[in-house]
Amino acid sequence: MDQIGHYINGARVSGASGRTADVFNPATGEVQAQVALASKAEVDAIVAKAAAAQPAWGATNPQRRARVMMKVVDLLNRDMDKLAEALSREHGKTFPDAKGDVQRGLEVIEFCIGAPHLLKGEYTDGAGPGIDMYSMRQPLGVVAGITPFNFPAMIPLWKAGPALASGNAFILKPSERDPSVPLMLAEIFKEAGLPDGCFQVINGDKEAVDAILDNETVQAIGFVGSTPIAQYIYSRGCANGKRVQCFGGAKNHMIVMPDADMEQAADALVGAGYGAAGERCMAISVAVPVGDETADRLIAALKPRIESLKVGPYTAGDDVDFGPLVTAAAKANVQRLVQTGIDQGAELVIDGRDFSLQGYEDGFFVGPHLFDRVTEDMDIYKTEIFGPVLSTVRAETYEEAIGLAMDHEYGNGTAIFTRDGDTARDFASRINIGMVGINVPIPVPLAYHSFGGWKKSGFGDLNQHGTDGFKFYTRTKTVTARWPSGIKEGAALNFKAMD
Ligand code: NAD
Repeated sequence: MDQIGHYINGARVSGASGRTADVFNPATGEVQAQVALASKAEVDAIVAKAAAAQPAWGATNPQRRARVMMKVVDLLNRDMDKLAEALSREHGKTFPDAKGDVQRGLEVIEFCIGAPHLLKGEYTDGAGPGIDMYSMRQPLGVVAGITPFNFPAMIPLWKAGPALASGNAFILKPSERDPSVPLMLAEIFKEAGLPDGCFQVINGDKEAVDAILDNETVQAIGFVGSTPIAQYIYSRGCANGKRVQCFGGAKNHMIVMPDADMEQAADALVGAGYGAAGERCMAISVAVPVGDETADRLIAALKPRIESLKVGPYTAGDDVDFGPLVTAAAKANVQRLVQTGIDQGAELVIDGRDFSLQGYEDGFFVGPHLFDRVTEDMDIYKTEIFGPVLSTVRAETYEEAIGLAMDHEYGNGTAIFTRDGDTARDFASRINIGMVGINVPIPVPLAYHSFGGWKKSGFGDLNQHGTDGFKFYTRTKTVTARWPSGIKEGAALNFKAMD
C-alpha cells in the first residue's frame, strides 16, 4: 500500500500524526494508497519553514522568478502524460480530460511568466512641487491555497503560479481524495529552480485546514471547494485578519432559445452536463428551454446523444466519455438526490440508476440521467448534485428563463444559446452570474482573464488568475517622496493639498 506524506523543504516527508485517509481507485473501488493527515503541530512547523525560506525568494528579482515559471511550463509539458495518468488513477476522469486539467493550469503558469510586468507599480512624476509618488506591489509573505478534488492539477497551479511569481512562499493543502498530482507539481517547481521551502504541500483534512486558518504567519488563503466549507473558511480566516477569497459550488443554467441551433445546443449540453461525470464547478446542470416546442425538440435531440455515451475507466481508451465518481459517498449522494427527483415528481427521461460495468462492479460509476419537468421547489433543482444528472426546467418566456438563473443562490457560470444578438446582449448585461457563455456552454475564462463566481459561488474580493491573481497575492505600498530642496522650507503643520 502506497503511503503519501507531505512535501517539506524540497523533499517528500512521511506524516507524523498517525492519522491517515484512504485514497481510492474510483474505477475499481479499491484503496490504492493512504494519505497522511497533518496535525496542527505539523502544519505550524511546515509554515515556519516556509517563512524562513520566503525572504530570499521575495528578494529575488522578478525576472529570475519568471524564469522559474518558464522552466515549470517546459517540465509540465514534458511530464504531461505522467501527470494525467496519476490524475486519472485517483480522480477517475478520462485521460484526455486529465490532460486538459493539467493544461488549463499550465496556461496560468505561462501567464505568470509576465510577473515582471504585472508587478510593476504606478508612478506620478511631480505629484506636488518636488514630490514624486509611486506604488509597488510586494509579496505578502507566506500564503496558502486550499483546493478541491475535482481539478487536482489546475486549481493548485492557479494558486501556486501567481503566489510564487509574486515572491511569496506557498503552502498547498490539496484534497485528501487525490493527493498525488499536487506532490508531483511541487517536485516540478523544485526541478525548475524554486528554492526549497517556497512550495510546501501539507496533506490533511479539517484539522490541517483549521491550523492554516489560525496560523498567524499565513497572510492570505485562496480556497476552492463546496459552498458550506467556502463560507466557513471565509468567516474564520477573515476573523483571524487574513486576506481570504473562497470559491464555492454551482448550479449552472443553460438557456436554450427557440431560435437556437438545436443540434449545437444538444451537443453542448451533453459535453457540459456529463463531461467529467458532472464533477465540474462549470458543468451545466440545468437546461432551460424557452417554450414547450423548444423543450420537446431539445429533449428529442438529447436522448440519443445521452443514450450513446460510453461510461468506463480511463484505462479503456479515448472513446470513453466519462468515468466514475470520486468516492462511494459521492455516488450514494447522487443516487439519493436522483430518488428525491423521482419522489418529488420530476420526469426521469433517461434512467442511469441500474448502470453497471462488467469487471468494475465495485467502482463508483453512475450512468447518465436526464430529468424533464423539473421545478424550482425540487431538491434536484436547489442542490448541486455534482454527478451525471441534467435537469430540464421548462420556461414559457425568456424573462422567466433569465429569472430562474438570477434567482438561484449560486452564480458561478451560465450560458445562452440563441441566434439573436439582442437577446444574447441583454442576457450578458443583466445576469447576476460571474461567467457567461454565448453559444459556449462552459465559459471558463482563459489564463489572462480571471475566473470567479458571484452570489454563493464566491466569497471575498478579486478573482482567480489573470491580473486579479497577482493582486490577491500581493499588497500595495505607496511612497510619497520629496527630496531636500523641498524640506528646507521648514515644517508644514496643515494637511497639504498637492498644489
Ligand atoms: P470540499 O469543500 O469538500 O473540499 C475542498 C477542500 O476543503 C479540500 O481541501 C478539503 O480537504 C477541505 N475541507 C473539506 N471539509 C472541510 C471542513 N469541514 N473543514 C475544513 N476544510 C475542509 O469540496 P470538494 O468535494 O473537494 O470539491 C467539489 C466542490 O468544489 C464542488 O462544490 C464544486 O462546485 C466546487 N468547486 C468550485 C470551483 C469554483 O471555482 N467555484 C472550482 C472547482 C470546484
